[in-house]
Amino acid sequence: MVAYTDGGLAVENGRVVDCGDYHSVAKAWPDAAVRDLRGGYILPGFIDTHVHFPQVRVLGGLGYSLLDWLEQLTLPEEARLADADYGFSIAHEFVSALAAHGTTTALVFGSHFAGATASLFSAAEERGVRIFSGLVLSDRLLRSELHQTPDDAYRDSKSLIERFGSGRYAVTPRFAFSASETMLAVCQALLKEDSSLRFTTHINENKREIEETARLFPWAADYLAVYERFDLIGARSVLAHNVHAGVGELQRLAARGASIAHCPCSNAVLGSGIFPIERHLEAGVRFALGTDVGGGTGFGMLKEGLQAYLMQRLAPQPMTLSPAQMLYLATRAGAEALGIAEQTGDFGSSKAADFVYLNPPADGVLAGVLKRLDDPDRMVAALFTLAGAESVREVRVEDHAIFDRRN
Ligand SMILES: [Zn+2]
Repeated sequence: MVAYTDGGLAVENGRVVDCGDYHSVAKAWPDAAVRDLRGGYILPGFIDTHVHFPQVRVLGGLGYSLLDWLEQLTLPEEARLADADYGFSIAHEFVSALAAHGTTTALVFGSHFAGATASLFSAAEERGVRIFSGLVLSDRLLRSELHQTPDDAYRDSKSLIERFGSGRYAVTPRFAFSASETMLAVCQALLKEDSSLRFTTHINENKREIEETARLFPWAADYLAVYERFDLIGARSVLAHNVHAGVGELQRLAARGASIAHCPCSNAVLGSGIFPIERHLEAGVRFALGTDVGGGTGFGMLKEGLQAYLMQRLAPQPMTLSPAQMLYLATRAGAEALGIAEQTGDFGSSKAADFVYLNPPADGVLAGVLKRLDDPDRMVAALFTLAGAESVREVRVEDHAIFDRRN
């Protein structure tokens, strides 16, 4: 981690052109207009690699595990997005929440309905939040309103890709549990037809889900093998969870360059288990953080980083994440998982000026704690521990304000 306690960030045409100690940046850019943000902290914009747009309003549903949480709480809410007006309002609520928490880029699970998914893309475009998303595909074992025929899934996916561009589109079967082989073949066809598409889904989240999936695909050696059979796993794939990962699966994920979205708040809320970070590191599998709204506890990526830290302290193979590692997992690691590390994720020269300006309320505990600190590692640790949405004052994507609460 590189940190400046009196830093300068020079931005031109939405790009970072310089980052360093304030005096050297100011000297290199003598004619630049200066904004004085002293008293606060500028971090790269957060990158949420797994978050469900139709689940904003199920946040706070405690006391369930995955399959009963879906059936009793979440799928009934997702079914409400059949109503286009409701989908439109949730899309705006969702995008506002991302921005207000400092998230500048997100890989978003869309809706099962094309209209609501289109509303999400439009709302994000309007606000300027960088999202990747797609229509969620399922044809069994959910509620009938959430099922599509494979033909409809193909047709609706194609028309969304045409409308919003393949570079922002992720082919998104909900999970193997709720997708027939014909539906997975539709995903395979979509990806084969356009190499700029991304792929996202869930894997190895909950023990019962894993057992059911094994029963549904008796030919598959493990969970990952289901997706592999349909050529869905590669460098453009982001799989959420992987809490209960087999040795062979980890090796194959690493070999294929696929990434995992690690969602520690959700893993704890749903009692799914403790993500084996050490095993992912040993196998060389890339991972980044996701909030998994609404299985998680909200949109805050700082909170997610803290939860990752807490759970790893207690893991069977315990490890202590450093503040720099937490920051990496909430920013640059997400850019790497999404294949956009050349464009965003840190303040490297010519990257997008995507940043969050944190300045905790003057009368709060965090402001008091920070007054005592002059070591950047300790400051970042304090921000992860204590900063919530109330500390987020301004958020920019390519230097365009997507959130501003400075006054
Ligand atoms: Zn999820």
